[in-house]
Amino acid sequence: MNESLNKKDTEKPSTATVESAPSHFIRNIIIEDLKQNKNGGRVHTRFPPEPNGYLHIGHAKSICLNFGLAAEFNGLCNLRFDDTNPSKEDVEYVDSIKEDIRWLGFDWDHREYYASDYFERLYQFAIQLIKGGKAYVCDLSADEMRDYRGTLTEPGKNSPYRERPIEENLDLLQRMKAGEFPDGARTLRAKIDMASPNLNMRDPVMYRILHATHHSTGDKWCIYPTYDFAHGQSDSIEGITHSICTLEFEDHRPLYDWFLDQLNIHHPQQIEFARLNLTHTVLSKRRLLQLVRQKHVTGWDDPRMPTLAGFRRRGYTPEAIRNFCERIGVAKRNSMVDIAMLEHCLREDLNKRAPRVMAVLRPLKIVIENYPEGQVEELEAVNNPEDPTMGTRRVPFSRELYIEQEDFREEPPKGFFRLSPGREVRLRYAYIIKCEKVIKNPDTGIVTELRCTYDPDTKSGSSQSKRKVKATIHWVSATHAIGAEVRLYDHLFTKEDLDDIPEGSDWLANINPKSLERLTGCRVEPLLAKAKGGERYQFERLGYFSVDSPDSSPSSLVFNRTVTLRDTWARIEKKGRKA
Ligand code: ATP
Ligand code: MG
Repeated sequence: MNESLNKKDTEKPSTATVESAPSHFIRNIIIEDLKQNKNGGRVHTRFPPEPNGYLHIGHAKSICLNFGLAAEFNGLCNLRFDDTNPSKEDVEYVDSIKEDIRWLGFDWDHREYYASDYFERLYQFAIQLIKGGKAYVCDLSADEMRDYRGTLTEPGKNSPYRERPIEENLDLLQRMKAGEFPDGARTLRAKIDMASPNLNMRDPVMYRILHATHHSTGDKWCIYPTYDFAHGQSDSIEGITHSICTLEFEDHRPLYDWFLDQLNIHHPQQIEFARLNLTHTVLSKRRLLQLVRQKHVTGWDDPRMPTLAGFRRRGYTPEAIRNFCERIGVAKRNSMVDIAMLEHCLREDLNKRAPRVMAVLRPLKIVIENYPEGQVEELEAVNNPEDPTMGTRRVPFSRELYIEQEDFREEPPKGFFRLSPGREVRLRYAYIIKCEKVIKNPDTGIVTELRCTYDPDTKSGSSQSKRKVKATIHWVSATHAIGAEVRLYDHLFTKEDLDDIPEGSDWLANINPKSLERLTGCRVEPLLAKAKGGERYQFERLGYFSVDSPDSSPSSLVFNRTVTLRDTWARIEKKGRKA
């Protein structure tokens, strides 16, 4: 018997390859830039997560895009942590982000950078701007600053501190840095234009006072650059050529350009694309954090979470996620992607690689009365009809078996061809059996056991097994099968589009109360006794399942249902083609 049917796909991260993908506008921009020999023919991108949460499938889109384009054009892609907000960031997140990117199949070599590595240089940039009369220390409180800022329809007002002399600004910034002032007492602001129609240009904050310990710089700093002041300059310092980001940064681009121009340093080209939105889930770290903190899920890696850690634990393959990211494409307009499409990509992949086994989730015992007591037959079963190289295995068959409760109906409705009193069904890889008698609990009336007979001339694969019946069901041998817990999952949210729920409203009210169902009395093929965490199987007729890591152990097996077999996306696509 095979030690383990799983091909060793989980031990080593697979390397991502660029398949023949349809082109998109960002690729076209790069091709054009290369033709013009812009940046001396270099392509250098980066993936810039803020370490304030785990990565989700939306980040995967950005990772595939940034690392994928770099690989395609013989360029480089940096991993840079935009860690400018110590109050929300943590090394736990840094570690998880690195693990998830590697799992997805990408590698940043030694190019692991942190915005915090540049704190000193950013500070020097700030001094340079002050000296050029382009930045000033402002004493307005956050509330006052909001009042001065104006609105989309009204211009803002100049801060009374805007014309502070350069020397005073330099002195105050130095004292801010030295820790002389409490949080929020002062800020450093860019001196741009309080009447700009773009609110980001109305003297934005560059530095704020925050007496907080940073996960990497410790207590060295008590002033921190804003994301807006750090991001563009970090890209510039790293020599990034194409700074790819999501659409919400389009309005920040003039500000980034302004800083780079004033400082007269390398100017990466920012290109915006639409972020991924997925039905029946949320893709915002803030909301995901809330789900974790309020224990609506068991953690960031809960198999219902749209995080890469969650998908991994659920049994998703990196290949399926990468393939999905290719297929959704890259566009300029925000849209919502059906989660069924992601599941479709997963099925396509698992269909090829997951070995088939039999498991019974809700067991009903059957006794084959004309099968000799104590006899055991080893029946040959195909491991994967999609891949003959995966071979066959032997499955024990005996007098007492379990079948699925729902494969029996005492009073079969029209169209039900599986087992019912007096009727026959084929057992997969085995024989045709007939239900002779139904045994019930006299108190509850619940069916507890079926007495059946088998037809010895109908053994699967044998030359006499010509006789046909309308249905085939799966089963396990009662004496050989092993117990397991199986966790079935459904969408985390009942509502399809959570993006249209306004801020401040009760989005948590849409949580699916039935997103997890735990079945404890399941029975699986004895071969699975050796199944290891992360391995994936198809349970025939039931779906794809993976061994849960960390909850599963050899003495108590736990499986997650990765995905069902019913492919709603294939049907949607078919309909689309017909229309
Ligand atoms: P969130 O909204 O979940 O907090 P974020 O943009 O704040 O996400 P970052 O850590 O800043 O999270 O994101 C790192 C990179 O991933 C950024 O370049 C960002 O544009 C990109 N990204 C984040 N969410 C998505 C998404 N849904 N689709 C595509 N790219 C995304
Ligand atoms: Mg962000």
